[in-house]
Amino acid sequence: MTPLPSDDLSARHSVLAAARRAAALVSVLTRERPDPEEVVAVLREYGEQGPLDLTPDDLDEMCAAAVLLREVFTADDLDTAAVLLNRLLREHTGPLRLTSHGGSPWHPHLDRDDDGPWGEWLLASSCLALTVLVWDTQRPPGRLCAAHNCRQVFVTQGAGPERRYCSRRCATRERVAAHRRRTAGSQ
Ligand SMILES: [Zn+2]
Repeated sequence: MTPLPSDDLSARHSVLAAARRAAALVSVLTRERPDPEEVVAVLREYGEQGPLDLTPDDLDEMCAAAVLLREVFTADDLDTAAVLLNRLLREHTGPLRLTSHGGSPWHPHLDRDDDGPWGEWLLASSCLALTVLVWDTQRPPGRLCAAHNCRQVFVTQGAGPERRYCSRRCATRERVAAHRRRTAGSQ
């Protein structure tokens, strides 16, 4: 999940960047006690440059949005992900529009206003990116990390075999654990 270079405007506004940002925010916001500084760090990592003073209300709304989005990331199959996305699009997003706020390239938004609340922005921008990924790949847009006790969600899109873990760290940890289990069993 390497973030895209922040000086590349169109890459920063790409569908994949928006989907990866959604996964990173959902992972941070659905922890037991989400840390506002971590939320800000993710937003900065994905190129947010304006002032970022998230109020407790903003954070609450973002957490509520993240809980709904998490269901899409953890959906077992493509059809379930599509049905969940349709429900979110119907109940939580506005009509599709183009915007170029703050000198950004023109890109689509589903929230009602460029200065709308953070929770609405998170839900709308994530729904849009995940919907396009479903359209483009005909696969579930994301998944839950398969590592024991890891609650990260991540975007599955990319070349090569389908990933099961959120990070190299989780993949290594699981490989080591499996190896220990095998050697313990053979003694
Ligand atoms: Zn993981």
